[in-house]
Amino acid sequence: MSIPEDVRRLVIAARKVVFEDPTDAALDELDDAAEAFAERVAWDEEPEDDAAQPSIPMSDMIEMYRGVKDHRKAMRRAFGVACPRCLETARRASATILLPQQRCRVDGYVDPRPELTSEQHQAVEDASQ
Ligand SMILES: [Zn+2]
Repeated sequence: MSIPEDVRRLVIAARKVVFEDPTDAALDELDDAAEAFAERVAWDEEPEDDAAQPSIPMSDMIEMYRGVKDHRKAMRRAFGVACPRCLETARRASATILLPQQRCRVDGYVDPRPELTSEQHQAVEDASQ
């Protein structure tokens, strides 16, 4: 199955916002990625008839959302590190696994590594196929 590049970009951007802490940069990227669809999907107040319909079969959409979970797991395997603040406490065994720039929901520690690039997301995606 081949996914159009703009759809792939949108899905990756959406994953970051939905599954990780939504940083400004991640939200900006989602906004930019969604912009590519502005002419293909009508705004609520516009008649749908005049807008070309996105030609993505439902089965592909389901496949993509299923892929979101797998992508998340793959990213954690590739870039996840145990939260050091969790490790200092008694809850060693259940330390939060953090991706770059992610905030630990337990203790507020923020992973200091630079935010992952879309290329890094893509590389993990490619490697898992
Ligand atoms: Zn922690």
